[in-house]
Amino acid sequence: MTDMEPDLNAMQADLRTLVETESPSSDPTAVARVTAIIEDWARDLGAAVHALPGGTAELSFGVQEGQKYLLILAHADTVWPHGTLAHMPMNEHGARLYGPGSYDMKGGIVGLFEVLRAMRRDERWPTGGVKVLVSPDEEIGSGSSRGHIEAAAQQARAVLVIEPPVADSHNLKTGRKGTGNYVLTLSGVASHAGNRPELGASAISAAAEAVLALEALADHAKGTTVSAGLIQGGSAANVIAASARLEVDVRVATVTEGERIDHAIRAWKPGNERVRVEVSGGLNRPPFEESAATMQLFATAQQIAADLGFQIGHEVVGGGSDGNFTAPLAPTLDGLGAPGDGAHASHEHIRLDRWADHVRLLHRLMLEI
Ligand SMILES: [Zn+2]
Repeated sequence: MTDMEPDLNAMQADLRTLVETESPSSDPTAVARVTAIIEDWARDLGAAVHALPGGTAELSFGVQEGQKYLLILAHADTVWPHGTLAHMPMNEHGARLYGPGSYDMKGGIVGLFEVLRAMRRDERWPTGGVKVLVSPDEEIGSGSSRGHIEAAAQQARAVLVIEPPVADSHNLKTGRKGTGNYVLTLSGVASHAGNRPELGASAISAAAEAVLALEALADHAKGTTVSAGLIQGGSAANVIAASARLEVDVRVATVTEGERIDHAIRAWKPGNERVRVEVSGGLNRPPFEESAATMQLFATAQQIAADLGFQIGHEVVGGGSDGNFTAPLAPTLDGLGAPGDGAHASHEHIRLDRWADHVRLLHRLMLEI
């Protein structure tokens, strides 16, 4: 097979178009502007474009009824609020191209379209066709897109996620921890801290107990982390606190660990019975466990990369993606976007000197699996 020759200048221009259209997850109208650009690119390639409820775009390229297709997962939102470009504009420094959302994951979308254009030019599509889902809310848990993603995965022979490779490396992602977010709302009894402290029941004391008890559930050997990252409470220093709120981040590598932590958090009670506790939230993404099916996809990718003249590795990472939803349903490989570093950080960038290799890898992988 002849390998494609990615047009880096055109890709940089496309990336500028996407990055300079700011798309914070919290503003569906702004995210829809990026989705609309991507839909136009897809229509230019003859794709069938469908808007699914909630703002997810479904782009189908040569999908044949009754046949299993290749599913590609992308997202149009970023973690960056409006106005970020004013102090973090797109900027090229040597081999690094900086910009909010460049690495996570607008660069991945641009690389994918470079691949799709080559396929269209060669009139050569993967067996069964390609379905691309572009979700609007990946960075805030994919509430509106999860159902569409899981339904599409049922008919997929494989799923490729175009989130970026592991930071500052060529490594793909063969597993991801499951993620959860819990909110504990504690209600105590207020009282004067000097005159009548014994009449009060401190929600803050109970929250402090909760921090120690819940963080102790972590199990590093099993990859389980529990972190109380946000705490609020009280009304004044001289009042026994009637209320407190605690937000807890949970990461688990296995379903079993997820169940253990979920049960323990819901069962936790403060020492002082007069403080009531309410737990909301839960595990929002199941763990993407490294499976034989995923490793088989990775082995193919590794062979292709070697053929193309570079080495790739694989890692299980702590952050979740929409691949967490598909891994239990269809063989899933993640990290097929643009190489770089700085996701969710002010030094977010992609690597121009490594980008073409990853685009060629995606092209060959889509045709060979
Ligand atoms: Zn992402």
